[in-house]
Amino acid sequence: MTHKSFLVAGALFLLALTAPSARAWGCKGHQTVALIAEKHLTPEARQLVQKLLSDSPIDAKLKRWCGNATTDLMVDASTWPDDVRNERNNGPWHYIDIPRGKQKGSLDEYCGAQGCVTRAIEEQRAILKDTSADPVKRAEAIRYLIHFVGDMHQPLHAINNADNGGNCVAVKYFHRDPLPNPMRPEREDYSPNLHQIWDTEIVERDMEVSNPHRYADELDEKFHTQSAAWEAAGIHVDTWAWESHDRAETAVYGAFSQKIAMEPDLKLKSCSENNHMGKRMFDLHLVAGETYQISAAKNAEEALAEAGVRLAMILNDAAKTTP
Ligand SMILES: [Zn+2]
Repeated sequence: MTHKSFLVAGALFLLALTAPSARAWGCKGHQTVALIAEKHLTPEARQLVQKLLSDSPIDAKLKRWCGNATTDLMVDASTWPDDVRNERNNGPWHYIDIPRGKQKGSLDEYCGAQGCVTRAIEEQRAILKDTSADPVKRAEAIRYLIHFVGDMHQPLHAINNADNGGNCVAVKYFHRDPLPNPMRPEREDYSPNLHQIWDTEIVERDMEVSNPHRYADELDEKFHTQSAAWEAAGIHVDTWAWESHDRAETAVYGAFSQKIAMEPDLKLKSCSENNHMGKRMFDLHLVAGETYQISAAKNAEEALAEAGVRLAMILNDAAKTTP
């Protein structure tokens, strides 16, 4: 590599790594969830959401990773929690690290001292339902709920295999070979990786030339029958987390031709930990091509549709308790 192409590769890598790896569903995924939910809101919920969001707008000075979508407040809200996660120091609210191989049961032991996505959803629901709470906090609760219900349906936000939710699993995605971070190769993190393709690439490839509005229409239509069953099942946040966890096992890890072994229950600061996890995963030479994409997109579509319908259920329920 020439010096210049080395720098360009480094910059591209950092962009890819810093942006989506921590975000779960890229911009378009979160926006799709918000748009599906809008189709399932009761008139009361729609009114409550519009009032709270428009009365306490997002700080105009805040740098928005996904741009401002001022025409639709729920779409705009859907990506806000990622824009404030560093300043608010609430990154753990976006996921729950359920180790691979665990049996369905209480999630308490997997929800750390700094919280997790299931607890954050329950806490924000309580704030939204409290009509005496600060309206600014209730508006934020709506923004958090829109985002977190989406996040928890990204399967890699409900599982851990000593790989930072798939961030330490290098994957060749179609023609793109995984490359190490040229600035810090000792960290053994590669791009593309499993978390990244599930956040963004799989969904965006599935959308093709569509946009979140059209994609939401398509998915809402496609899962019309199932959505009645999801609605009838009621609000069970822990159950949803376990479903997402199971989906990660089968559709994320289990869909490769190579077996990805179960690792000890560890959270890594660097992919080089756990006996060189990053390098070991790289050496498996995992490939996510057409076959993987087809099964992954099917699962991602269903997860986005579920997230949208369930988000609407939560907002409808909150609006019911408002006089
Ligand atoms: Zn997030």
